[in-house]
Amino acid sequence: MRPFGLERAPDAAGAGRLAAVTSGRYLAGGTVLLDLMKLDVIDAGTLVDINDLAETHGAIGIDGDGLTLGALVRMAEAEAHPAVRRYYPVIRDALAQAASPQLRNMASLGGNVLQKTRCSYYRDPSWAACNKRTPGSGCAAMEGVNRRLAVLGTSEHCIAHYPGDFAVALVALGADVMLRGTEGTERRIAFEDLHRLPGDTPHIETNLQPGELITGFHVPAGRWTRRSLYRKVRDRASYDFALASAAVALDLEDGVVVTARIGLGGVATKPWRAHEAEAVLAGRRLDEHLATSAAEAAFAGAMTLGDNGFKPELGRRTLVRALLEAAEMDL
Ligand code: SF4
Repeated sequence: MRPFGLERAPDAAGAGRLAAVTSGRYLAGGTVLLDLMKLDVIDAGTLVDINDLAETHGAIGIDGDGLTLGALVRMAEAEAHPAVRRYYPVIRDALAQAASPQLRNMASLGGNVLQKTRCSYYRDPSWAACNKRTPGSGCAAMEGVNRRLAVLGTSEHCIAHYPGDFAVALVALGADVMLRGTEGTERRIAFEDLHRLPGDTPHIETNLQPGELITGFHVPAGRWTRRSLYRKVRDRASYDFALASAAVALDLEDGVVVTARIGLGGVATKPWRAHEAEAVLAGRRLDEHLATSAAEAAFAGAMTLGDNGFKPELGRRTLVRALLEAAEMDL
């Protein structure tokens, strides 16, 4: 690991000031960042430790408008919260199936949504060709090992998958993310707009401004949040990333879909909202035939490349199963 500096921010204003004069990289749990620093993928310069902001950005709140999650809430804390478990089970499920208990005790929610792809060429600097790590260098995965990589939202410059779980639940539920700039300006954007498609700039992964800090998330209340779940398919049953996953939230009336919210993970370059599938379901009786039609719509634009040819079918089956299981939930 290369030497790096460390500054401790006393509060949000201090974090902004420090970010403006350093690399603008924040340290919370450090479970991804330190990993990538050790692998020499990221040269961090000086990190800004924001763990002292937990008093202002580390709480969980729930009211009639929805659920608010501070960015410094630890994954394990959110997973165990009674209101999350009761009213937002898809968030509980996604957190419970992520990483390991030790990592969930350390990792913050704000850091978790910014985790990096597991593309092996990105994580190994001995490979020269990686547009995400070194812009303009090419993409070794195109003709290399790409079994885990994305089939939705790809470009000719990068097919790296987004590996997280919690973010897939957030995108399905139509959450917002709260941000604070280095000058103290606050803004709120749809979580769906936080991550960018790779296009021809795969090294720019989010719409965050330089030094902008994620301070929290707001998940709106809705009749669909209780009938919600997350299904994840992976090579091994724990401590593994999704090959395909589906976050589903349904409002049903007598078996007919009033509202369906769907997020997909493990198959796309960013946390993926399956709007086309939601449109197929709206206003119709949910059965296996309809769920299959929705899953086909979700993957209609899939592009496969060599080893990842199995992903559209796995993704479809995962979504069908999630929809049918959500419909059967006993509320
Ligand atoms: Fe790099 Fe993206 Fe290609 Fe992987 S898929 S080698 S992250 S450019």
